[in-house]
Amino acid sequence: MDSTYRDILKWGDKREEEADPLMIKIIRDKFDLEDSDLEMKYLSGNEPVKLEKSSSLKPRQLEFLAGIAGNDNIQCDDFSRAKFSCGKFYGELLDLRLNMIPCPPDAVITPKSHDEVVRIVEYCNNEKIPIIPVGGQSSVTGALKAPLGGIALDLTKHLNKVLKINTENKTVTVQAGISGPALEDELNRHGFTCGHFPQSFEFSTAGGWIAAKGAGQNSTGYGKIEDMVIALKAVTPAGVIETKEYPRTAQGWDIFRLFIGSEGTLGIITEATLSIHYYNPWNTTYASFIFKSFKQAVATMQKMIQSEYGKPHLFRISDPEETDIAFKTKGFDNSLSDKVLKKLGFITGKRSLMFVAVEGDKDYTKFVLNKIKSTAKKGKGMYIGKNPVIKWLEQRYSSAYMRDPLMDLGIMTDTLETAVTWENLLKVWSATHAYVNQRPKTLLMIHISHVYESGANLYFTFLSPMEKGNERNDFAVFHKGLIETIQDNGGSLSHHHGVGRVLAPWMERHLGKTSMEALTAVKKHFDPDNIMNPSGTLGIP
Ligand SMILES: Cc1cc2nc3c(=O)[nH]c(=O)nc-3n(C[C@H](O)[C@H](O)[C@H](O)COP(=O)(O)OP(=O)(O)OC[C@H]3O[C@@H](n4cnc5c(N)ncnc54)[C@H](O)[C@@H]3O)c2cc1C
Repeated sequence: MDSTYRDILKWGDKREEEADPLMIKIIRDKFDLEDSDLEMKYLSGNEPVKLEKSSSLKPRQLEFLAGIAGNDNIQCDDFSRAKFSCGKFYGELLDLRLNMIPCPPDAVITPKSHDEVVRIVEYCNNEKIPIIPVGGQSSVTGALKAPLGGIALDLTKHLNKVLKINTENKTVTVQAGISGPALEDELNRHGFTCGHFPQSFEFSTAGGWIAAKGAGQNSTGYGKIEDMVIALKAVTPAGVIETKEYPRTAQGWDIFRLFIGSEGTLGIITEATLSIHYYNPWNTTYASFIFKSFKQAVATMQKMIQSEYGKPHLFRISDPEETDIAFKTKGFDNSLSDKVLKKLGFITGKRSLMFVAVEGDKDYTKFVLNKIKSTAKKGKGMYIGKNPVIKWLEQRYSSAYMRDPLMDLGIMTDTLETAVTWENLLKVWSATHAYVNQRPKTLLMIHISHVYESGANLYFTFLSPMEKGNERNDFAVFHKGLIETIQDNGGSLSHHHGVGRVLAPWMERHLGKTSMEALTAVKKHFDPDNIMNPSGTLGIP
């Protein structure tokens, strides 16, 4: 059985060990590093996992829970508890590399049915045992830690099926632990798509998407997950919530919406009904453009989305730094075509790439793309064909695999994201660059990937050599400063990663005292004894 910290920290199991040689060259040049700096496996995490404390569940509690879920579905060994103690936040990955497991659960349970979840919640509520619902463990907000111990309730092993595809209503009902590929495969076979493709698609689950209020890369067309949920079933300590499948209602609050973004603090989502769309990839139209500046690209994107002629599904702009890295890692930099672009005034360090893909009916996708092209032309964007965006789509899940080899080289690398109105977008963009520029040897790449009439998101990826021996503190200070810079300039706390424990300290500042009290009151109603993902998530006391 796998038993090292590395087995827990790595992203997937396929491309994990391969560092892109072009990326390594960029890092070596940018950060002025020697080859010898980059050869070792820094903090590899190859040591066997060992926990300081054994499970604090009593034998009679374990026996009762095993009686519900079966002996095969309850694990208390060190490795299982360690594996389910975290998600994929950089701080957590660093802890694993430092052989630290700060907040393990006492046991991992894999229930086989909704009814078993009900019985487990009832029992844990009586016994005051915390429960942390777990999906694909791709959380990047520290939302899966178990500071008070308790049970990690893993839904991926058994509760992972499509229950019903309703072709008349265009909906799908799924168990919450279903992964992205399992859902899409089944839908595609029936001629549908869910349209939700987060970069974590391969490993994340429908329950996690809803609980963390996520967004896929085609969200400009299909919407965020909150636009897709029609109904759901959730088990809370106060009882079961099962909402009905209506297109819309006016019956007071939509109770199911309380669970979207609840991050496991109210209960366990066991089933959900989502809207679906026809699967017609052969109709999709694509376009890539280059602009002379980020500002020009943003102004044109704003015109496109506010035009009301239809909108792209995939809609992205990479800022000049991200465009530069994309050109370098794809071997385009200094090619013949690149020289032509530069001659035309699309200069390195200023130019910005825009990617567009429109899905749906054939006439619609053609019509919208033509409109987009003509708006781009008016905005001084140059059409550079469909291949760049198609190539990007082919590798869209790959960059997630880059973090492990980069950390092996002693490179700190993490992401943050925010939602911002058009009026504040450039302010947040330039303020974050100014903040990052204060730290020597640091690279910040920003893109826009979810676009609305009133604004868009900004997504930040930063890289910098770790401060060896002071890795945790150095990261914490830098990360905090970046979060504050985003907020000081008008960005939201999160657009799609959620809040977890990492962003929780800013929740009250962000929402205000009265809203926080409302969140706390809702939590108290569904979970009066505070057993559901307790201690910090969402900033709930
Ligand atoms: C490389 C990478 C790329 C990513 N890209 C994206 C992206 O493009 N878009 C995006 O939105 N996010 C992205 N994320 C963040 C993450 O994938 C999302 O937050 C995702 O929705 C989490 O789903 P999960 O199944 O992995 O949930 P987990 O990580 O297991 O859990 C996340 C939270 O949801 C709760 N939860 C999980 N399942 C349930 C349930 N059934 N009932 C109640 N609560 C539950 C957990 O308690 C926890 O609070 C990315 C993360 C990584 C590491």
